[in-house]
Amino acid sequence: MSELVTARIRATAAKLTLPHLAASLGEFVSRADDTQMGYLDFLDMVLAEEQALKEERRIRHALRVSGMPHHKTVEDFDFSYQPGLDVRKVRDLATVAYAEARANAAFLGPPGVGKTHLAVALAVAACRTGYSVYFATMDDMVRQLKAADAIGKLTSKLKVYTRPQVLVLDEVGYLPLAREEANLVFQVISKRYERGSILLTSNKAFSEWGQVFGDEVLATAILDRLLHHCEVIAINGPSYRLKNRMQAAEAEAAAG
Ligand code: ADP
Ligand code: MG
Repeated sequence: MSELVTARIRATAAKLTLPHLAASLGEFVSRADDTQMGYLDFLDMVLAEEQALKEERRIRHALRVSGMPHHKTVEDFDFSYQPGLDVRKVRDLATVAYAEARANAAFLGPPGVGKTHLAVALAVAACRTGYSVYFATMDDMVRQLKAADAIGKLTSKLKVYTRPQVLVLDEVGYLPLAREEANLVFQVISKRYERGSILLTSNKAFSEWGQVFGDEVLATAILDRLLHHCEVIAINGPSYRLKNRMQAAEAEAAAG
């Protein structure tokens, strides 16, 4: 292949934002030579590789800006440690039908049972499929919204939490909220209602939300929208955080 044509293909590929083709042209051609590839297969290979790399870049970027604390998956979850948990329900959710349906999921239970792990896992799955995802603890969200409100920027800050197709709202109810704080949460929930999914985690039963939000009527209004299309998953087994420590203690007791 002439130097001139090679240089022109590289320049055009770069302009078309096909960086992989621009960088790997020589390698592509020698692979085609080695296997005596036809024109269609050659073109197919170049486009498929470019697309796969583009997709990986998109996912990496989307995961980075999502603010998720980690990117664990459903495959990383040891269901044998939570025999009470409905595996199929969780696997069905991980097919991302929930995001398509703009439905919600709530993971309820005590600390360390994997609520955040599973909420993040569903969000990661949605992100890989192409949905926009954002992660925040409820306290963080409330703090951000209050600060924005104080400088007259509530409307634009609300969009951070209402725009993404999937919002992970972690640790709902860890700290009780003042009335105006609860009202900010209500604004997010009602703006997202039937428009986007919420994956929430909480250590509180829904019956305790009146105390969390400092107002029964407001809590009912929030729950009404949240639960209309919502898969509720209660995890009540042992804390995974204590797993290794308990095993070590048992081994020690057995030895002693
Ligand atoms: P929670 O949000 O319920 O307090 P996390 O989801 O943060 O708990 O879980 C605590 C830690 O234990 C995380 O590192 C999580 O990945 C891990 N973990 C919890 N449950 C499991 C499990 N069944 N299999 C594998 N890892 C788990
Ligand atoms: Mg958690």
